[in-house]
Amino acid sequence: MTAPLLALSNIESVYGPIKAIRGVSLSVDKGQIVTVLGANGAGKSTILKTISGILEPRKGSVQFRGEDISNVGPANIVRRGISHVPEGREVFPLLTVHENLLMGAYTRRDRDGVACDTEVVYSYFPILKERTSQLAGLLSGGQQQMLALSRAILAGPELILLDEPSLGLSPRLTREIFEIVVRINRERGTTILLVEQNANMALNVADHGYILENGRIVMEDSCERLREKDDIKEFYLGMKDAGARGERRWKKRKTWR
Ligand code: ATP
Repeated sequence: MTAPLLALSNIESVYGPIKAIRGVSLSVDKGQIVTVLGANGAGKSTILKTISGILEPRKGSVQFRGEDISNVGPANIVRRGISHVPEGREVFPLLTVHENLLMGAYTRRDRDGVACDTEVVYSYFPILKERTSQLAGLLSGGQQQMLALSRAILAGPELILLDEPSLGLSPRLTREIFEIVVRINRERGTTILLVEQNANMALNVADHGYILENGRIVMEDSCERLREKDDIKEFYLGMKDAGARGERRWKKRKTWR
């Protein structure tokens, strides 16, 4: 059996006295799209911050390609092939679209590869090519999301950590972004760990899913099977007629499986 590309073992992450992640273990195989779903404040963003080195875990380990990266720092983690698209995009508002893309490629020395990837992201998002000289701060929310994702691609990553790409976007733009996420995965072979509140979208594009509640994984399965579970239908997909069983389980909260 081949080792997973990314493996978190028993991770605990804190903000001062607040325990945001309480013993999370998960794995992502090469070439997969894996999603972590959960309500507001469940700890989804904290998992991504811990992987990308913004937060050091208090306990547990993060392994990437079989190596422990728990304490190597964010810059080294980018160099090893992990790009993080944070919640809220965080583009550089006073740089142009093109300059933002170049910032994504700052660790690379292969100028031809960077030029080639720039054309690829412009083909994914032609509006960015039209706006190449415009300040990123003047782009719409959807365009900034496109730019943030494009900037991550410019780093040439093996794994992209994608935090709530649908946040604040219209359903049409959300679909557009997700279509490109799937193309990045299929055409470039990039592995994707996707954190989302839009469970419907995430379960449609991902292979495998984890459900996070109060900093703990309470369920994991293939997305195909997760979509069929009453609890998921009722509380994440908003299907009210999913059955009373889901409601009873939710109230007890201990009988998720
Ligand atoms: P959301 O969808 O709202 O971003 P989330 O599932 O991503 O939610 P996190 O942002 O990871 O959740 O937050 C997990 C917990 O950690 C929450 O209780 C949150 O209030 C807390 N938290 C997050 N960031 C900080 C911070 N910088 N300082 C203190 N507490 C924080």
